[in-house]
Amino acid sequence: MTSDPFIRIVGAEFVRADPAALESYGVDALGQGHPPDLVVIPGTAPEVAAVARLCNERRVPLVVRGGGTGYTGGAVPTRGGVVLSMERFTRIVEIDQTNLLAVVEPNVITADLQRAVERVGLFYPPDPASLETSALGGNVAECAGGPRAFKYGTTRRYVLALEAVLPTGEIVQTGSKAVKNVVGYDLTQLLVGSEGTLAIITRITLRLIPKPPARATLLAVFADVQAAVDAVTALIARRVVPAAVELIDAESLRVVRDRMGEELAPPTAGAMLLVESDGIRAAVDEEIEQVAQACRGVGVMRVTLAADEAERDRLWNARRLISLALRATGLLKINHDVVVPRGRIPELFGVIDELREEYRLTIAAFGHAGDGNIHVNLMVNPSDPDERARARQAERVLFERVVALEGSISGEHGIGFAKAPYVGIELSPDAIALMKRVKAAFDPNGILNPGKIFP
Ligand SMILES: Cc1cc2nc3c(=O)[nH]c(=O)nc-3n(C[C@H](O)[C@H](O)[C@H](O)COP(=O)(O)OP(=O)(O)OC[C@H]3O[C@@H](n4cnc5c(N)ncnc54)[C@H](O)[C@@H]3O)c2cc1C
Repeated sequence: MTSDPFIRIVGAEFVRADPAALESYGVDALGQGHPPDLVVIPGTAPEVAAVARLCNERRVPLVVRGGGTGYTGGAVPTRGGVVLSMERFTRIVEIDQTNLLAVVEPNVITADLQRAVERVGLFYPPDPASLETSALGGNVAECAGGPRAFKYGTTRRYVLALEAVLPTGEIVQTGSKAVKNVVGYDLTQLLVGSEGTLAIITRITLRLIPKPPARATLLAVFADVQAAVDAVTALIARRVVPAAVELIDAESLRVVRDRMGEELAPPTAGAMLLVESDGIRAAVDEEIEQVAQACRGVGVMRVTLAADEAERDRLWNARRLISLALRATGLLKINHDVVVPRGRIPELFGVIDELREEYRLTIAAFGHAGDGNIHVNLMVNPSDPDERARARQAERVLFERVVALEGSISGEHGIGFAKAPYVGIELSPDAIALMKRVKAAFDPNGILNPGKIFP
């Protein structure tokens, strides 16, 4: 593929075909993918539109890349083509304190927006553990979640309007700055979670809320996972909705201890919960006491409160390190962010135990227990073909069982190419056919992110 027509659109400085670039833009956070033929780095929406038109005319695969932190191969090609990196779209255009919203370009880093709005007493809740490296466009395209989704919902709840470039080159505006809008189909929410397969997002209008004035963080240590799960059930029964309820199992605690030197719980612990409550002071105090009582009621080993902000930050940083710690083991980390209705979390952990035993696998499970969204990591020796084969069988069984529990095979990481073969476990042929017709309406020549989502 010749780079000349792309250079005419964005300039020579922003078209890369050197081996180092092709290699680094060809992998996602798990190192999976295929190198592109070219990396193109536009600076404006009209440039994005011109690149899309060119690719569409020439039937060249076009893959949008944000922060590159995705886990399912969404931002990487499956067979060459152009990677369109949004890395020059990094401006916070506006923080509107009257209307409680922010207008941003898609490659603003999630935590940068959070810090900027918190400086003026506002709050952007979605908090994927990758928040220091993931970008808001990627968060919108994947509908990212995080611990705070328990109380505040996922990215979807905060997206009011988008500017997006269609694969055929038109620039469209969806939604508006108003909090209510029922004119026509809701294209904004259709694009949320569309994994870069329908359009290229070039501007995002996000809803903000007032920053909660107080918070408290509780750490509860249990002898086994079952007790921790019972505590989650008990606190939900008390009708309390903390901002976050995170569960970390013994294997994850061990790896964080061994790899990162972070001692979250004593080695005898079978699981821990990290719970955060936020709001006005009196309500926070009442809520966190309810949580502590729920934990005590199921036989907790130890309940402590973070003494200050520094300790709170240490706990959350350790929580965010789990994924990296698991990867640092050198084992293949087959990570599935399955989700079940909250009431069925105990059954999900039962399934995980069965898989451990039946397929003789090490499995580390942790995540957003409040949402029923548990990251199930099959930790596999990459040079053991038998173990890899057992892991592949186990993941299919996991997906089938999760769907049987009325859950979903992905709560936040999306499908990409990694989970595409399993979509038929959850979606009916008619639903898949309808989604393909939607895809064709946006992208008649199938150039945008081919090989993703559909089996
Ligand atoms: C350590 C770690 C922890 C993580 N924790 C979480 C977590 O707690 N919760 C969670 O939800 N995820 C988590 N993730 C996964 C990942 O960070 C999220 O999916 C994130 O939303 C991806 O954002 P990104 O900018 O890196 O997107 P990328 O990886 O670059 O892209 C992801 C998808 O979005 C599309 N895309 C990107 N930008 C655009 C755009 N402007 N227009 C259209 N499509 C676009 C891409 O084509 C691709 O399909 C984690 C990842 C890591 C490495």
